[in-house]
Amino acid sequence: MKKKEIIESLKAQKEIFGDILYQKLDIKPIKPEPPSIKTAASAKMTEPELFPAEWERATTLDELNEMICKCQFCNLHKTRNKFVFGKGNPEAGVMCIGEGPGADEDEQGEPFVGRAGVLLTKILEAINFTREEVFIANIVKCRPPGNRTPLPQEMESCLPYLRKQIELIKPKAILCLGLTAAQALLEKRDTLTNFRGKVFAHNNIKVMVTYHPAALLRNPNWKKGCWEDVQAFRKLYDNLVKE
Ligand code: SF4
Repeated sequence: MKKKEIIESLKAQKEIFGDILYQKLDIKPIKPEPPSIKTAASAKMTEPELFPAEWERATTLDELNEMICKCQFCNLHKTRNKFVFGKGNPEAGVMCIGEGPGADEDEQGEPFVGRAGVLLTKILEAINFTREEVFIANIVKCRPPGNRTPLPQEMESCLPYLRKQIELIKPKAILCLGLTAAQALLEKRDTLTNFRGKVFAHNNIKVMVTYHPAALLRNPNWKKGCWEDVQAFRKLYDNLVKE
């Protein structure tokens, strides 16, 4: 097997199993040194004069965006080009949540604008949603260098913003795109296989999980599974609307 094929195969395994893959093999994943981070929550408690959590009092998405767009709570701010707040209908019934901005998103300041974004638009349209009627966001709002998976500390630091977005939007259902988004939002370590096909809850909001569009571009044979996931998600949403 060529080196490139081995790397692609490892990436696919990581997509499904995450760090659990390493635990089962009883080896430690190689991780960069964790950066020193002030989370939004800890900063609020320890340095109120420097970081008053004004943003927690935001009453609209625009207000929240304005309050947090210069955030420096984790090291990702050092390498970002643009902060990526998220985009879509502020009163969306559906939120799609990915892992973090990639190169195109970092350049344009919008989520899911590259090839994966085009595929996400097609997936949404296949289940009769337009991009404009949903809200698309990520677990972290600044691009991890080299598109690496965000570190746990970076996700912990950024998640309060996403929770606030969810609180303001009040969607009926959330679709997590990929294992990292599912594990972070649901605060649960499991494999993508186990997350898929089930309905979870985040603050009483229904959550389902499917593949990240970028993973589908690398592994087109996963598209059938994604199609099944999103059809189930549409059905869940329709039932919630009827209630
Ligand atoms: S990733 Fe989130 S917490 Fe880190 S600097 Fe960007 S906005 Fe702040």
